[in-house]
Amino acid sequence: MSEAEDQSIIESYQFHHIDISKCRECREFSCEEACFRGIYEVINKDSIPKCTVVEDREDRCVKCHMCTTACKPRAITID
Ligand code: SF4
Ligand code: SF4
Repeated sequence: MSEAEDQSIIESYQFHHIDISKCRECREFSCEEACFRGIYEVINKDSIPKCTVVEDREDRCVKCHMCTTACKPRAITID
């Protein structure tokens, strides 16, 4: 993981970490579709998109990493 860029803004949950500066440029929102556990919700899709983790769902994650692969800007990391 390289987070050397000045623009990185990491929002951390229990073990998901999302660089929401990358979400701002995103128009695909593939994280939502990739996660069959419904863990992500992208808000503000029509303005400044931002991926969020639905908090009471985070422990549903099976760490399959389909989301990290699907997110082309590589905004998602999982501990
Ligand atoms: S997490 Fe990735 S796919 Fe999801 S909105 Fe952010 S940049 Fe887009
Ligand atoms: S690792 Fe798998 S289960 Fe966990 S958030 Fe990503 S797609 Fe969903």
